[in-house]
Amino acid sequence: NKAYIEVKNLKKYFKVGRHATLKAVDDVSFTIKKGETLGLVGESGCGKTTCGRTIMGLYEATSGQVLYDGVDLHSIKGEERRKFARKAQIIFQDPYASLDPRMTVGNIISEGMDIHNIGTKEERQKKVYELLEMVGLNREHASRFPHEFSGGQRQRIGIARALAIDPEFIVCDEPISALDVSIQAQVVNLLIKLQRELGLTYLFIAHDLSMVKHISDRVGVMYLGHLVELAPSEELYANPLHPYTKALMSAIPLPDPNVSKAKKRIILEGDVPSPINPKPGCRFASRCKYAKKECSEVNPELKEVKPGHFAACHLL
Ligand code: SF4
Repeated sequence: NKAYIEVKNLKKYFKVGRHATLKAVDDVSFTIKKGETLGLVGESGCGKTTCGRTIMGLYEATSGQVLYDGVDLHSIKGEERRKFARKAQIIFQDPYASLDPRMTVGNIISEGMDIHNIGTKEERQKKVYELLEMVGLNREHASRFPHEFSGGQRQRIGIARALAIDPEFIVCDEPISALDVSIQAQVVNLLIKLQRELGLTYLFIAHDLSMVKHISDRVGVMYLGHLVELAPSEELYANPLHPYTKALMSAIPLPDPNVSKAKKRIILEGDVPSPINPKPGCRFASRCKYAKKECSEVNPELKEVKPGHFAACHLL
């Protein structure tokens, strides 16, 4: 199964003032296969959202490539770029802020079809009804406004909007973080159902590790702009190799308290350092109890430690 999306040495830097550079995404590479869900996790500020937005083309990359089916997104312009924009969509974190309160739900969902001139007015109307039903709402909801809905329902509207122009790839940018825990599983299950029905490919960005495991085929872990580990979901959760991933995993509450003895919680000492003008070497060195001299001098490369399991650490 060949790669559908290839991210190669992607960098996204932001200038801060005159002399500082925020290295939000710093030399990140990975691939996503067609129909796959790649989870991307890490604490806030690790660069996962910037990474997702740069892959979508919402930010221009500082350097590196994002290839969709072999075509470099950042090299195409005009009509070609417009065509691309139909293939990739995004679902935002905050279902309150991302829906225009003055528009009806029907208009919100059909806006993408209007912009891309898809179908007649009647066809668009019909599609809005179909999409509402597909995400577990109904056609009566089309004439209502966002404030009349709960958080979970609004996120369903956000999903219907993303699906309206038949995308192939969806960046789910923390789509459940703003929702009640009781609603989160429903939205994740809806995304899984839609993926099966429509053959979608997802990049699922989150800081909730248990939900990421549930939806992802493989998971990547980011720390301060670097991808530090990448592995199949089951493998990563059963056998994390990078000291940072181990600490993240140990913080997930376990359903059975007797199991927790083997997986003692690792408390991370110190604060997350600033991504502005980061120091050379391993970005995790200031918080890593295994750090040695080499760690603060040489940045460890992401290497395949076991088949399909990649990690970036001098210990491995
Ligand atoms: Fe820790 Fe060094 Fe590995 Fe970084 S490279 S995670 S500092 S042991």
